[in-house]
Amino acid sequence: MYPSLEGKVVVITGAATGLGRAMAVRFGAEKAKVVINYFNEEQEVQAIIEEVEQAGGSATAIQGDVTKEADVKRMIDHAVKTFGSLDVMVNNAGIENEVPSEDLSLEDWNKVISTNLTGQFLGCREALDYMLKNDIKGSIINMSSVHQEIPWPHFVHYAASKGGVKLMTETLALEFAPHGIRVNCIAPGAIDTPINAEKFEDPELKKGVIELIPMGYIGKPEEIAACAVWLASNEASYVTGLTLFADGGMTQYPGFQAGKG
Ligand code: NAD
Repeated sequence: MYPSLEGKVVVITGAATGLGRAMAVRFGAEKAKVVINYFNEEQEVQAIIEEVEQAGGSATAIQGDVTKEADVKRMIDHAVKTFGSLDVMVNNAGIENEVPSEDLSLEDWNKVISTNLTGQFLGCREALDYMLKNDIKGSIINMSSVHQEIPWPHFVHYAASKGGVKLMTETLALEFAPHGIRVNCIAPGAIDTPINAEKFEDPELKKGVIELIPMGYIGKPEEIAACAVWLASNEASYVTGLTLFADGGMTQYPGFQAGKG
């Protein structure tokens, strides 16, 4: 547990499902005040608020599209109006779809880039503006992926967006370090969330993914949430510009395991 997170105001985008939801609950367990941004999961929201409260935190929810400037501004305003501040911004919302690159439409390219990269930029910019104006030495966490490092055929828009998140994070970390604002990202490997549901329903595809993971299992959302609370806490007070890989070793060249290569 991280006592420094008690009472801290945390905004999480895309928090109605998967990693966002797990982070909301874990920040709740740290007694934080959590703003749950959801996209189109109205029916889920009340249950998530209750889950965060039962875990020990406070929660409120706000609908919003991270690709829209006005919506992102509204999320921060909602945090400040409801809980009085903004201490931690988690830019988590993200999408992917599989398309061979020669067939990838401009529309699909733009949709992924505007959600995964521009959406995270808007979240960073609005949070930084608020933190600077209010002299808050806050923490920003962007959700990247092992695909900021590992090329991924048929997902060129996704890989490009996550590569962008890496350098955006590092650049902002450098720019705002003098203000005591830390900017980091988490790069999950394969985690059991709705984004992977179709793939993991197919036993062959799932087996193929597990073969790429030296630790031999698909990660749990809670294992990513554990990274987020550490990065947000004072225990990570000297950490900025980091990509924290939580991938069961996927980025450690699994093809070279045990005598191969
Ligand atoms: P998920 O599909 O459960 O979560 C994505 C969330 O983003 C959903 O709640 C969705 O409603 C929301 N969202 C989509 N478009 C939005 C928009 N325009 N505005 C606001 N919200 C929007 O999947 P997840 O695995 O929890 O993904 C969360 C993040 O983690 C993503 O950025 C994803 O790229 C990243 N990630 C996931 C994995 C994994 O294996 N699950 C691995 C690496 C990175």
